[in-house]
Amino acid sequence: MIDVLVIGNGMVGYKFCEKLVNKAPEGFKITVFGEEPSPAYDRVHLSEYFAHKSVEPLLMAPRQWYEENAIELITSEMVVSINREAKSITTHKGRTFNYDKLVLATGSTPFVPPIEGSNKSGVFVYRTVEDLDAMETYSKNAKTSAVLGGGLLGLEAAKAAVDMGLEAHVIEFAPRLMPRQLDEAGSDMLQATLESMGLHIHLSKSTASIDGDEAMTSMTFTDGAALEAEMLIISCGIRPRDELANESGLEKGERGGIKIDELTLTSDCDIYAIGEVASYKGMTYGLVAPGYDMATVAVEHLTGADTKGFTGADMSTKLKLIGVDVASFGDALDEGKQYKSIVFEDKNAGIYKRVNISKDGKKLMGGILVGDASNYNMLFQMMLNDMTLPPHPEDLVMDTSRQGAAAGNTVDMLPEGAQICSCENVTKGALVQAIEGDGVEQFAALKTCTKAGTGCGACSPMVNDILTATLKKMGKKVRKVLCEHFAYTRQELFDLVKLNNIHSFDQLINDYGKGHGCETCKPAVASILASAWNGLILKQDTIQDTNDRFLANIQKGGTYSVIPRIAGGEITPEKLIVIGEVAKKYDLYAKITGGQRIDLLGARIDQLPEIWEELINAGFESGHAYGKALRTVKSCVGSSWCRYGLHDSVSFAIRIEERYKGLRAPHKIKSAVSGCRRECAEALSKDFGIIATEKGWNLYVGGNGGANPQHAVLLAGDIDEETCIAYIDRFLMFYIKTAEPLNRTATWMNKLEGGLDYLKQVVVEDSLGMGKQLEAEMQLLVEAYACEWKEVVNNPALRARFKHFVNSPEADPSLKFDKQRAQKVPVGW
Ligand SMILES: Cc1cc2nc3c(=O)[nH]c(=O)nc-3n(C[C@H](O)[C@H](O)[C@H](O)COP(=O)(O)OP(=O)(O)OC[C@H]3O[C@@H](n4cnc5c(N)ncnc54)[C@H](O)[C@@H]3O)c2cc1C
Ligand code: SF4
Repeated sequence: MIDVLVIGNGMVGYKFCEKLVNKAPEGFKITVFGEEPSPAYDRVHLSEYFAHKSVEPLLMAPRQWYEENAIELITSEMVVSINREAKSITTHKGRTFNYDKLVLATGSTPFVPPIEGSNKSGVFVYRTVEDLDAMETYSKNAKTSAVLGGGLLGLEAAKAAVDMGLEAHVIEFAPRLMPRQLDEAGSDMLQATLESMGLHIHLSKSTASIDGDEAMTSMTFTDGAALEAEMLIISCGIRPRDELANESGLEKGERGGIKIDELTLTSDCDIYAIGEVASYKGMTYGLVAPGYDMATVAVEHLTGADTKGFTGADMSTKLKLIGVDVASFGDALDEGKQYKSIVFEDKNAGIYKRVNISKDGKKLMGGILVGDASNYNMLFQMMLNDMTLPPHPEDLVMDTSRQGAAAGNTVDMLPEGAQICSCENVTKGALVQAIEGDGVEQFAALKTCTKAGTGCGACSPMVNDILTATLKKMGKKVRKVLCEHFAYTRQELFDLVKLNNIHSFDQLINDYGKGHGCETCKPAVASILASAWNGLILKQDTIQDTNDRFLANIQKGGTYSVIPRIAGGEITPEKLIVIGEVAKKYDLYAKITGGQRIDLLGARIDQLPEIWEELINAGFESGHAYGKALRTVKSCVGSSWCRYGLHDSVSFAIRIEERYKGLRAPHKIKSAVSGCRRECAEALSKDFGIIATEKGWNLYVGGNGGANPQHAVLLAGDIDEETCIAYIDRFLMFYIKTAEPLNRTATWMNKLEGGLDYLKQVVVEDSLGMGKQLEAEMQLLVEAYACEWKEVVNNPALRARFKHFVNSPEADPSLKFDKQRAQKVPVGW
């Protein structure tokens, strides 16, 4: 029996044990030392601890697993020295243990720069569950916080601070955010998005001191500026925990860490080092996947198996924050200027994408994605597998819904050997084998049996795509389940909600799901519940979207915009005057929108209920400009005023807008009515558009404007108003019930099997025999409508939520404005 001692029970130390017991269940006696009180947990998803308030859901395995595998787990005990001659280690309790082989998996510790005052209370790091506990307790008596470091972890910590109800400032020494991953334009875009989420970003700032008596109250910068902050989270990088190497004489890397070779052996051939503590060719790795690779190599070497060795790792990353997509891969910055770049930027939608391609235009070398990283996995795989680029590489950065087969980038094109999950080293071939050979048909089962997607989770969408594509090839019906917490499609969940009269996320996950939910299922279920019952969105605890949370669109600079409904674009002079008066009183920037409404921008959170109250008293309602809901029904002046008008398009538009106002859907819905085929209301660019004809109305569906224009197509021609309404009822209900989350009607129709013909059969010919039922369901939603603003205005408990600080009624003091053309605009924009 070989005695193996593992020092460090973090993610990598645990993975080593798991791989060793799987490969050689007998022959090794394993003892693991962990300094933390709990067994190894998933540090990558540490921020989820705030949601669970328990370490259990994050555990890599429960204590029982160690017992079942005859592993002795010793927690809350730190190893303080190694005696290489005696082949023993000693713990801080003075206990000594002998080894035949020793594995160092001691990870790293956050780097705290030597800034005056960093020992004051209120200063934290973000690494362990104990750090998070301490931070949360302290935050209860604080309003303001700062995070030192605008890198990957710093931004995650800042988001956690915002979620704790604190004002959060990010201080970054470099002139851009995530300086190792993003270029200037990508950082600018990320900054704009983060600021719209309520974070305050300060770049090119060097901290001179952390000030206050015993507890910190502010910070001073080297340029003389100061910032009030009662809490600080330091996230300035990590330092390997290589202290055991010092006195035992193990060789270290040039920049710290314990030096290892390709077999993960240190300068002592009985001692391995793996994970963040290991230094290979002078590099230490702050990601989990390289650590898992090292664990595999160490186990292979220890058990005498063939090994390809550890030869370095890719540092591509994808940020997991809710609300911001950021990814960077390969040679993202191209500082050597060796490549050609293709850049797509949409400031309106907050999207920046850059791919660097070889000079001959054939290979992908790296890239940056901000605002939309949905094709990260595919791009990353193209680069890793040295795949030839499609004829129009610009398609790689254009809107993802138009990609896929057209751009030549589907999972089918990946070679069998493509490594899909780098954390667990799972190839496409292994996934296909599990599906075809072992009959796995569910996403969750595929994850369990191959372990793909169980590390950092970034590959999960691609694992799901491979499952779908393989099942399709096998001629099996593909069910696109929502996520690992719900083994149901969105459509099935919608039906379950209706049939079982379910009104909350907790009830649905208790009855039909498992775990605690994630950033995929929480907003999707919130959308289903809203569409099913048309209840007040604020009563759903799980809503993720800041816009829904405050019934207004958050804008650059941290203020909100107010858009009252102006049905059909028709408004009386009296109402116009009220809008003008409100704008003047609250100093709001006024702008006419493309949807024939008036947007009032620059309102503080605490002003929103007052502004709404004044508008409601004048007969206005919420315009739902913030929700995945019906927005506007635009109209031309029609036959009332226009010489060409065939019918009264304004009255019809108002009728439609009144009917569907507030209707929640998988995505926003826009509509328009034109009085003749000259189409002044641009109905063909809407989700559903109506154009007057000599004999009645033509109804078009599936149009889209914005970055991805698509013309609507004719669903029914020359119909009367009543039939038109009935068809719209059916069309919208069918879409709401069957579309995947966040699919506009155009995308949904593009994916619909049978396309327009099938849709016509369902809506016009009533082939499923559910036309009347769909109309009745719509009628129930129409009757359930209530103005959400009014509910807040009249409900003191809801109204009390509208304040900037959780524990104080004070207004946000950091909002600053400039003047432009006689109106205010946020500073710096
Ligand atoms: C908030 C956060 C988010 C992250 N997000 C990502 C991500 O999205 N993607 C990604 O790839 N990586 C991410 N990481 C990094 C990832 O968590 C680490 O790369 C990984 O945990 C490293 O594992 P490790 O086992 O080497 O080190 P650790 O997890 O640090 O484990 C080492 C363990 O050893 C213990 N130890 C140290 N010295 C001793 C001793 N002398 N005696 C006994 N015990 C000792 C430590 O207390 C610790 O428990 C994130 C990290 C954090 C903190
Ligand atoms: S669409 Fe026709 S009816 Fe309407 S304003 Fe234009 S020309 Fe006139």
